[in-house]
Amino acid sequence: MAAIATDVRLDESALSALRAGFRGELVRPGDPTYHERRNIWNGSIDRHPALIARCAGVADVIAAVKFARRTDLPVAVRSGGHSFPGFSTCDDGIVIDLSLMKGTRVDPNARTARVQAGVLLGELDRETQAFGLAVPAGIVTTTGLAGLTLGGGIGWLMRKYGLTIDQLLAVDMVTADGTFVKASASENADLFWGIRGAGGNFGIVTEFEFRLNPVGPIVLSGPMFWPMAESAQVLRFYRDWITDVPDELTTVVVHRRVPASPMIPAEFHGRPVVSVACCYAGPVEEGEKVIRPMKEFRSPFLDLCVPKPFLAHQSMFDPSFPKGWWYYFRSADLAELTDDVIDIVASRALEMTSPLTAFPIFQLGGAIRRVSEDETSFSGRKAGHTININATTATAAGFDEEREWSRDFWTALRPYHTGVYVNFLMDEGVDRIRQAYGADKYDRLKALKRKYDPGNFFRINQNIPPS
Ligand SMILES: Cc1cc2nc3c(=O)[nH]c(=O)nc-3n(C[C@H](O)[C@H](O)[C@H](O)COP(=O)(O)OP(=O)(O)OC[C@H]3O[C@@H](n4cnc5c(N)ncnc54)[C@H](O)[C@@H]3O)c2cc1C
Repeated sequence: MAAIATDVRLDESALSALRAGFRGELVRPGDPTYHERRNIWNGSIDRHPALIARCAGVADVIAAVKFARRTDLPVAVRSGGHSFPGFSTCDDGIVIDLSLMKGTRVDPNARTARVQAGVLLGELDRETQAFGLAVPAGIVTTTGLAGLTLGGGIGWLMRKYGLTIDQLLAVDMVTADGTFVKASASENADLFWGIRGAGGNFGIVTEFEFRLNPVGPIVLSGPMFWPMAESAQVLRFYRDWITDVPDELTTVVVHRRVPASPMIPAEFHGRPVVSVACCYAGPVEEGEKVIRPMKEFRSPFLDLCVPKPFLAHQSMFDPSFPKGWWYYFRSADLAELTDDVIDIVASRALEMTSPLTAFPIFQLGGAIRRVSEDETSFSGRKAGHTININATTATAAGFDEEREWSRDFWTALRPYHTGVYVNFLMDEGVDRIRQAYGADKYDRLKALKRKYDPGNFFRINQNIPPS
């Protein structure tokens, strides 16, 4: 067991008062579950909070916020714990953890769902797919719905139905002074604009209400693989092919080594590949026609793009991103895959050394673009692609080298960056956060922050400082 590395003394009488009514669990250094509870998804982050307040409901969240205010300690908010830079934990502060709050209620007639903040993507899909419905969200089922939604939310259904925030109808929140508020298009509309992209800057969302969309349950989906050495040719063909595919199709290009999955014949395991993974959110027969040209390009050596349950497709990448490995990311939006961009991607991919590294290039467009830039604080709706240069190792061994590869690759693409998706940022400083929103929205967000959190109580995040 690691040493207990916090010596913050909490006010015992205030803590007793908090404990008296708390329905969830309060975990402190020295408690048997402390190390399990303090660890988050990214194993390269190792922090020691003074208290982890695992809330069971809204009343616990309000009590935890009020307690934290009295201590003056830093506060981190956690739902799924998947923040790349580790903003869901802190040293010597208080973690307000919503992961116990799993309530989900689907109304299949109204096609809406009410979802509490601790729900993970796979848990929500399980409930909505029981009715052939879905909220567009991300590509790994263990990701927290809350953090993903509050940054925007990109995934397999985005070109058909938009970002996760584009299906958001309302939220319940607890603000920095412990007040419970609602936000929607008709109530606290300024706050509703802000939380759709600017994360947890304005308060703690305890519950979301989403519109649901018909999906599957069977969809034509999955990856096709070519040798990585053919990346430039595959990407050039891919770029031309996607120029007029329908919005039902979303694709993600991934460079990696073939994982040792039982779905894949052992002879292919470990081969460096470029893969084009598809999800067709429409009739399977229609999808077959749309995807055929890509399937026929240089005959992929393995084609796993077949009809399957949407739930199975959603969990395809899960084994590649387990909790506890060491992860580092550099990301950027790109307008298009020009010849220059493709040549950089193809050559840098060959230089990755860790067998666990896998970096995705998401195809954007479609429904994302049909929502105006002003509608939400999320920025970058006109981008063509988002690249997320993910360096992964199982432990600290080799991590620094792989991180340097990611940084150098990102720098080589710098002339082509058009922005960045806030949920794909590491802890990169104020200029990068401003870049994620653009100067105008950033100023508007600052004004909103002054209204809802003037003391910057919520500052362990992609922070918009009030002044
Ligand atoms: C394996 C993996 C796959 C991913 N895939 C995708 C993807 O396909 N699409 C995509 O869009 N993103 C993706 N992401 C990025 C993801 O959107 C962010 O990491 C997001 O922050 C995760 O949400 P969480 O609840 O798990 O995060 P947490 O680490 O719990 O929280 C992250 C931050 O979000 C804020 N926050 C969390 N919960 C609340 C709340 N209830 N109220 C207010 N603020 C809150 C806080 O600022 C917190 O620091 C992925 C991340 C990982 C690790």
